[in-house]
Amino acid sequence: MAQEMLRCGTAEIDRLVAAGLPYEERSGVRHFDANDLYNLGMYSTTSKTQPELAFRMLFRFAGRPVDDLLRTKNWDFQVHLECPDCAGEAPWRLEEPDIVRFGGNVADVTAPAPGSGSATYTATVTTTGARTPVLSPVLRQLTGEYLAAGYRWQMIPVPMQADYALVHELGATSCIAASLLLAERFRGAGYRAEAKRGWFCGVLGGALDLPHACVEVEDDDGKVKTIDIAKAQLAARLSASTGEFQELCLGSIYNKVIPSTASGNAALAHHECGSRTPVHVRADIRSVR
Ligand SMILES: [Zn+2]
Repeated sequence: MAQEMLRCGTAEIDRLVAAGLPYEERSGVRHFDANDLYNLGMYSTTSKTQPELAFRMLFRFAGRPVDDLLRTKNWDFQVHLECPDCAGEAPWRLEEPDIVRFGGNVADVTAPAPGSGSATYTATVTTTGARTPVLSPVLRQLTGEYLAAGYRWQMIPVPMQADYALVHELGATSCIAASLLLAERFRGAGYRAEAKRGWFCGVLGGALDLPHACVEVEDDDGKVKTIDIAKAQLAARLSASTGEFQELCLGSIYNKVIPSTASGNAALAHHECGSRTPVHVRADIRSVR
């Protein structure tokens, strides 16, 4: 799997291990951490690893004219919940799509009934876009400083992202950690701001299950704006022709994001069975044709 993801041979994997790539040996087979492999692939600069190809494909939209991102769009929205060490029948709690505030809609909702083990939430979610750029020069400056600081975007496990001070001390960043830190800086400058989690649409399967988060902040005009700091940063890294999209990330709303009610460092779902093992949440969001 490591060779496939990094498009390299055994000799190269051996060299990575010799250079310090951590692994666990189970029945004579080396197992690597998926995030480690992902980050290695993403910054391999060979342009042929799976993460590099996946990111280029995923962010192709960011280089196109942004009008498409402002249209109304409908999504078949499914979230699978799995309670790995389930202790029995109990209600499920999901932080649901919270999009009406941003001109969208949620319909045909099937919320899971109390049960055990696993459950599914389905809905049809309508998203839309609007150009509502951030006006405050202070917010603009803080955002610009963050983007210019050169933190390296990485795949980081969600529980570690909550420790955003540690993540940034390591020179790294990620969607949730970036949003938590920027929200803190906005509050420090006297603004009302909160990092919120949500879903990034059009990312199928577990191959690239990007945890999404952004900052919601009350701008000088009294309106709540969203700053998609990590997407702005990723787009800038992937291609220079994404300037229009990067600007859209600074306050405007676009149709590939579904915000949830969860705050930046909260879980997207709980099962009230009493188990302490976190619920796995996997989204499958498909465009309705
Ligand atoms: Zn359970």
